[in-house]
Amino acid sequence: MITEMLDCSEESLIKASGLIKRGEVVGIPTETVYGLAANAFDASAVEKIFKAKGRPSDNPLIVHVSDFDMIKEAASEVPELAYKLAERFWPGPLTMIMPKSDKVPYVTSGGLDTVGIRFPSHPAAHRLIELCGVPLAAPSANLSGSPSPTTAKRVLDDMNGRIPAIIDGGESLVGVESTVISFENGGVRILRPGGVTREMLLEVCPAEVDRGVLSEVESGAVVRSPGMKYRHYAPKASVKLIKGSAEKYREYVLNHASSGDFCLLFEESEAVGGVPYLCYGGSAEEQAHALFEKLRLLDEMGAKTVYARCPSAEGVGLAVYNRILRAAGFCVIDLEEK
Ligand code: AMP
Ligand code: MG
Repeated sequence: MITEMLDCSEESLIKASGLIKRGEVVGIPTETVYGLAANAFDASAVEKIFKAKGRPSDNPLIVHVSDFDMIKEAASEVPELAYKLAERFWPGPLTMIMPKSDKVPYVTSGGLDTVGIRFPSHPAAHRLIELCGVPLAAPSANLSGSPSPTTAKRVLDDMNGRIPAIIDGGESLVGVESTVISFENGGVRILRPGGVTREMLLEVCPAEVDRGVLSEVESGAVVRSPGMKYRHYAPKASVKLIKGSAEKYREYVLNHASSGDFCLLFEESEAVGGVPYLCYGGSAEEQAHALFEKLRLLDEMGAKTVYARCPSAEGVGLAVYNRILRAAGFCVIDLEEK
């Protein structure tokens, strides 16, 4: 199969919607990361997404809508609080889990009776869903297990020959996947942190962070969100997350780095001796935007071990910390501990 690169013109979006209506899968830009989109109500189209990604069949897909009414097609019951949160944070990077309607096949929901729903803000994603007239199931457009793509080129790297088309909508603004929440006890539980932060949710309702966000799930354990149990965002290099001041970080790297190793820094001023490095930014927003691309670049440069400075877990930083912790296989070296 030849993978065609499309732009965001109306003509291209009509072409892409034609492919989706015929049961095909298209790579699409969103403000979080790029997605692999198919008709969420068409089981055999959705099966093609799982095949293209090599994704385990019990890992559910998020269903993307282009207006508030579409929620009612995908969900059988919409909590009052969901409307309140939608009013505040949609369109945007917030996925809400609700009981699924009969229209959503179990392939899409990974065998669950619930479905995660989101209204993306990227104009091309929005227009494409509108043109298709149905919600689109769209997981991140990477091969299962590798870092999510934040540009059309990265989608092509993973999906060339596996899907008929990719829409190039520029760099994803947020850079990490959406915040995933479930509803309980009049509030919400954060199952995956993202661009809509706990602090933002707290302005509307009680919001708790699930334990699985920052700790490793034991094998065989029952989890609230299937994505938690899979190795995620993992580059080929071995990532070590180093917690501590710039000085302590420098001392540690000087004592441990050997040929083929790299540093992943916040800023250039933190460079250590002759050890090659990449920077992923000083603020949580910059880090979210850059992290996945830097992990992919480190692999391209053949990094064996990556010594990464540990981000702060405040605001969007919680999402950055969650992703890099998984990329590091939960290997944190805490230089602050005595
Ligand atoms: P991705 O599509 O790659 O962004 O991953 C979507 C993630 O959202 C999954 O791995 C799940 O962890 C979570 N998710 C989606 N739907 C549900 C659901 N119905 N219940 C719990 N978690 C969900
Ligand atoms: Mg993913």
